[in-house]
Amino acid sequence: MSGSMMVSVSGIRGLVGLDLTPELVARYAAAFGVLVRERHNGPVVVGRDARTSGPMFARAVQAGLQSVGRDVIDCGLVPTPTVQLAVEHHRAAGGIVITASHNPIEWNALKFVGQDGVFLDPEQGARLRALADQPDLPRGSWDGVGEVETDPDATRRHIAAVLALPVVDVERIRGRGFSVALDCVRGAGGTIMPELLSALGCRVVGMNTEPDGRFPRPPEPVPENLSGLGDLVRRSGADLGVAVDPDVDRLALVDERGAPIGEDYTLAFAVRAVLGTAVPPYRPTAVVCNLSTSLVVEDAARDCGAELVRTPVGEAHVARAMASVGAVIGGEGNGGVILRALHLGRDAPLAAALVLHLLAGSGQRVGELVAAAPRYIIVKAKAPRGGDLDAAYRALEDGFKGAQVDRRDGIRFAWPGRWLHVRPSGTEPLVRLIAEAPSEGAARELVGAAQAALGSKERTVTCVA
Ligand code: MG
Repeated sequence: MSGSMMVSVSGIRGLVGLDLTPELVARYAAAFGVLVRERHNGPVVVGRDARTSGPMFARAVQAGLQSVGRDVIDCGLVPTPTVQLAVEHHRAAGGIVITASHNPIEWNALKFVGQDGVFLDPEQGARLRALADQPDLPRGSWDGVGEVETDPDATRRHIAAVLALPVVDVERIRGRGFSVALDCVRGAGGTIMPELLSALGCRVVGMNTEPDGRFPRPPEPVPENLSGLGDLVRRSGADLGVAVDPDVDRLALVDERGAPIGEDYTLAFAVRAVLGTAVPPYRPTAVVCNLSTSLVVEDAARDCGAELVRTPVGEAHVARAMASVGAVIGGEGNGGVILRALHLGRDAPLAAALVLHLLAGSGQRVGELVAAAPRYIIVKAKAPRGGDLDAAYRALEDGFKGAQVDRRDGIRFAWPGRWLHVRPSGTEPLVRLIAEAPSEGAARELVGAAQAALGSKERTVTCVA
């Protein structure tokens, strides 16, 4: 073992060929098959992103499921949200997605989806882990092996479901004839995004749309990785640029001048598209996002008359809170948009359609929409996780009297127009510090206070305009 293996709430992740092996993957798939059988006797949907190890692990997943008597519906190479939709479509017992999302090319992972199309909650995740560690999983004998059938239509159904949403005015978007530059980083996006955008009447200028998993750049759709897309926007004179991560649950935008605007704007635009239209098909109630999501989303919710509800970081937290408070839209600041009417999962094809709906309805360009609302600066830093975190939290609370304090996921302090979130990483031995304020100086000051409380000498910070 190289130590890369990570078991978390929503799945397992590791370096291909070191810790993540077909043997381990088959074992977890078998454990999942046993776990879901307690509630549901139906098949399990399997899909994978474009990584080169995907077909190998997909066969291991299928074998593991079959070995405990689970039937398998194989969707092949598809986005993660397509698998979540397929679980609901087939009324399946659950789903397994083979994807390491935005992680570099060396990694792969399994994500586990419950029968409701939502990732496992912590309790189910713990049960899965306990089953996988059990030496004697109940395997089927010669007449108890599950069967495999393929589902070649999952992506087509996904596109049709997005186009059928009342909040996506397909005719209006088609009427605008947008020109869209598209970067799929050679991930699963190439299997859905060009077709979806074409169906919306867009002229698509694509790069990295071959879904062969050979990422030509770091695959996370953050501004520093989107210079190529910015060049393509300028060269092609596109109205906007759209980038998705390898498993197509996150979407980031580049404006008409080729400048990446930051992933938080994706959810802010989607909120305005859904809740801010003249004749709202959805009554504004609550918008749900995580504790580290930008104030641009809070502003969008307030402008549309909706309350903002924040949750701990993670898609499952946001999805479950949306269900419990009855929110029509939510998501995460990393470019993940969830519309309850479609399904409770982050969905980049949905996000693209909502952004185009907003652009078509407002007649404004991406840069104009950004300029129309207050701007903030986000500053991020990391601190080694060593000392007494609770003592550091208490020191910060003493220093920040008067702030609104939230301790559900690390600690978060909020004031009007600014916040600081100090949060232990779930995957690395470090603490993440993130602050947002109207100026870089003010955001740096908040992060600096947290570094001092943690006794961190690290002064490296990243700034997101
Ligand atoms: Mg992803």
